[in-house]
Amino acid sequence: MRVLLVEDEPRLLRSLAQALREEGYAVDTADAGDDGLYKAENYDYDAIVLDIMLPRLDGWGVLDRLRQRKQTPVLMLTARDATRDRVRGLDTGADDYLVKPFDLSELLARLRALIRRAAGQARSNVEVRDVVIDTRSRVVTRAGHPVALTAREYAILEYLALHRGEVVTRTALYEHLFDESDDTLSNLVDVHVFSIRKKLGAELIATRRGQGYCIES
Ligand code: CA
Repeated sequence: MRVLLVEDEPRLLRSLAQALREEGYAVDTADAGDDGLYKAENYDYDAIVLDIMLPRLDGWGVLDRLRQRKQTPVLMLTARDATRDRVRGLDTGADDYLVKPFDLSELLARLRALIRRAAGQARSNVEVRDVVIDTRSRVVTRAGHPVALTAREYAILEYLALHRGEVVTRTALYEHLFDESDDTLSNLVDVHVFSIRKKLGAELIATRRGQGYCIES
C-alpha cells in the first residue's frame, strides 16, 4: 500500500514516514499543501494523511480540490478539541479524522481500516482458499500454519487480496507498493510473485498474460 503524508512539522513528518515504512507501507511525503495536492492528483495513493494547517494551501483547500477529481481515502489531522474542524472535515469529504496529538497505534489502525473500507473489505482478515491474511498483525497462514513472507511479498499479496476479482497490472503494483524514494531494481514483481506461489500454492495468484495478476474472487 502506498500512502501520502502531508504534514509541515518536519519531526512529525519524519517519524510518521518511518513508522509507516516499518509497517510495510510505501510512503511519499509533502510538507506544503500545493505539493501534497500535486502528488495526490498525479499518483493513485491507497490513502492520504492530511494535516489542516499547512503552508501555501491548507488541508481544506487540498481536500476540496482533490475531491473534484478523486476519491482517494483521506485521514485528516485536526487540532485538539476542534469539533468544528472535525465536522467540516467530514462535510468536505474526509473519510476519517484524528485529533493531535495522537497515538501512533491509533493512526495505524485507522489507516488500515480506511484502506480496507475503500477496498470494500470490512474485516481485517482476508481469506483466499486455505490462506488467511491477517492485515492487522500482517501474519499469513496456510491451512492454519504460519507462513513467513518478506515485506515485499506480503505487500503484493495483501494488495492483490484486497482487490480480489480484479486484474492488477504490474504497473499498478509498482505504483502502489514502491514509493518515490525507492529506486532499486530489486523490485521485480514477477520474482516476488513466483516466491509467494512457492510458499502459498501456485494456484493462489493467476497470471493474466499481458495484463497482470489476479486473485480470483
Ligand atoms: Ca501543520
